[in-house]
Amino acid sequence: MWKSNGPRNSSAPTSSGLRVLIVGAGVGGISAARGLLRDGHDVTVFERAAAVRAKGGAVTIWPNGAKVLGQLGVDMDGAGQVLSEVRVSTATGRRVAEIDLAALSATLGKPTRMVPRRILLERLMDGFPRERVRCDARVVGVRNTSDGVRVDFADGASAEGDLLIGADGRHSTVRAAARIPEATHTGWCSWQGLIELPDLADSDIAVIIIGEGGNLGLWPAGAGRLQWWFDLPWSPDFVRPDSPVDTLRAHFTGWSPGVDRVLAKLTDDDLRMSPFPHFRHPIPRAWGHGRLTLLGDAAHTMPPTLAQGTNQALLDTMVLRRSLASAHSVPDALRRYEKIRRRKVAAVSWVTARQVSHGEATLKPAALLPSGLTTRALTDFIRATSHPKLSAETSEERTPIDTP
Ligand SMILES: Cc1cc2nc3c(=O)[nH]c(=O)nc-3n(C[C@H](O)[C@H](O)[C@H](O)COP(=O)(O)OP(=O)(O)OC[C@H]3O[C@@H](n4cnc5c(N)ncnc54)[C@H](O)[C@@H]3O)c2cc1C
Repeated sequence: MWKSNGPRNSSAPTSSGLRVLIVGAGVGGISAARGLLRDGHDVTVFERAAAVRAKGGAVTIWPNGAKVLGQLGVDMDGAGQVLSEVRVSTATGRRVAEIDLAALSATLGKPTRMVPRRILLERLMDGFPRERVRCDARVVGVRNTSDGVRVDFADGASAEGDLLIGADGRHSTVRAAARIPEATHTGWCSWQGLIELPDLADSDIAVIIIGEGGNLGLWPAGAGRLQWWFDLPWSPDFVRPDSPVDTLRAHFTGWSPGVDRVLAKLTDDDLRMSPFPHFRHPIPRAWGHGRLTLLGDAAHTMPPTLAQGTNQALLDTMVLRRSLASAHSVPDALRRYEKIRRRKVAAVSWVTARQVSHGEATLKPAALLPSGLTTRALTDFIRATSHPKLSAETSEERTPIDTP
């Protein structure tokens, strides 16, 4: 049976007061922690790093993710750059498609914005009780016990709770402990980051250019920053070139004047965190056992093609909260959450695994499609895979987190 910590307020869920252990303080872990604290649970997050910190460039928050951030009471006003359009062309400058993000966002009820990961995590942490995150806590083992879960740390300590959420990213220790199959690489990688380039970046138009053996994106991320990425083939025997920037220049120079400007400004130091190989998890029927489940990249790493990873982690949070609020037992709630999410996330993951790089001849038919149709197709896909009914039933929060 679930444990309860006494009286709940009227907006609290039917079941609250669970001791929730979350492994990983990325966007997935903190969003789940925020939501479950709001729902009256006693939440602790364990993070192996010394601080809650986001590395890397910027992510796209689509209206589906923005909606969940609203439900979590996260204020995104002024964060990053709101985008109005994506322009897709070939490496020789031939138009392929335009996606009207202003129309897509208006239909789905929230903006589409590019947000540096650091800013997104700061906004998620705003108003969140920091004492709920224990840093320098590397989890090495988890298991179901007779009436709960137990987590073991590298320093020999342990903790017990009523349920455990593995939000520990692509190479999840919790996933391995639950013996759920590992992610496999897709044969591609991204070299990516943020660059200060005000005259290119102070725009609300995102650019994608597709070529035979690679593709790239230049997406404004606000305050003069531009998110750039260059996708190239990758394999496990990849050997880092002496000068990665020379490799990128050899492949992508001449694709557009904007690309040439970015390549001229980039240095090998800007590329030291890259490349990020693309991985994809098989999506099993259930991604947990007993009182243990997974969330975010730990559950469903996918290639960045649709820029949906963070948004999918946020949708996990929405569904998990609802399932916990209405099921009869923790295992029932977790299996229900996994079942509701599985088909939607599998559809998104399937699309992200499609090949993006093509030659001019293959792209020609795409250019015949009117941009209104492309926009509508993407709008419908995002809506259909984002639990529209559940999302409409979940109200947005404007009040501070009220912790138990
Ligand atoms: C190149 C690239 C570009 C991307 N672009 C986009 C985009 O534009 N839009 C988008 O929505 N998504 C994008 N994504 C995906 C997005 O980054 C992820 O989906 C998202 O960050 C998932 O967050 P998470 O919290 O699940 O995992 P993570 O951010 O990986 O967080 C996991 C946390 O767990 C901690 N941890 C790990 N192991 C342990 C352990 N044993 N004990 C304790 N703590 C542990 C880690 O330190 C980390 O803090 C991109 C991904 C890549 C690789």
